[in-house]
Amino acid sequence: MIVCKTAQEIEKMREAGRIVGLTLRLMATLVEPGIKTETLDKEAEKLIRKHKAIPTFKGYGGFPASICVSVNEEVVHGIPGNRRLKEGDIVSIDCGATLNGYIGDAAVTLAVGRVDPELVTLMDTTRAGLEAGIEKARIGNRLGDVSAAVEARANERRLGVVRDYCGHGVGTELHEAPQVPNYGTLNTGPQILKGWTIAIEPMFNLGTARVRVLNDGWTVITQDGRPSAHFEHSVAVTEKGPVILTLP
Ligand code: MG
Ligand code: MG
Repeated sequence: MIVCKTAQEIEKMREAGRIVGLTLRLMATLVEPGIKTETLDKEAEKLIRKHKAIPTFKGYGGFPASICVSVNEEVVHGIPGNRRLKEGDIVSIDCGATLNGYIGDAAVTLAVGRVDPELVTLMDTTRAGLEAGIEKARIGNRLGDVSAAVEARANERRLGVVRDYCGHGVGTELHEAPQVPNYGTLNTGPQILKGWTIAIEPMFNLGTARVRVLNDGWTVITQDGRPSAHFEHSVAVTEKGPVILTLP
């Protein structure tokens, strides 16, 4: 069942989402060659708790940290640790915050120092996929319109679109209905209704779309070891159009 939120609920999600946006903005200032991924996690948790929110991911399904930190060929769900970022890496940071029972969920991929131009294209295209999907999150469109818009950006650049993981409804639960795939067909799927709140989160790969999970049980990597990017916002469908809930 897809839960439509009231304006008041959407406002609560925006407050939670703002903390996510602030945290990702902080991450962008901290990411540089030499920093440990566990330092990013500590700083993220500190900021989330300073705003009286709870890091949604900590303990979710047993996940051990407040943010997911996924480097290069890691797609999503990377566990922060003593790894140090180095010049030329790209790093995806995924963050969730719960405030007064409502959740914001967003992710960005950041360059560590100077990176290869093809990685810049990968990141720019993945962000463009997110923006294209958000633009289609409108009353009267169908869910497939969002998915198709995301996928089209990847296809233009011949990037791999991860199929094993997707976006989702978000609200009082981190993962609610519906699933929001990053591939799909125009004019298919359920009609998008006022009050839907969904996390749209393209994961595009430079190489194959295929992924696998490492032995830590969490970290998702590309099967060919080539880099991956991930951008995400939580978005509300309103009469005025899509509203991004995870901005600082
Ligand atoms: Mg996320
Ligand atoms: Mg998500």
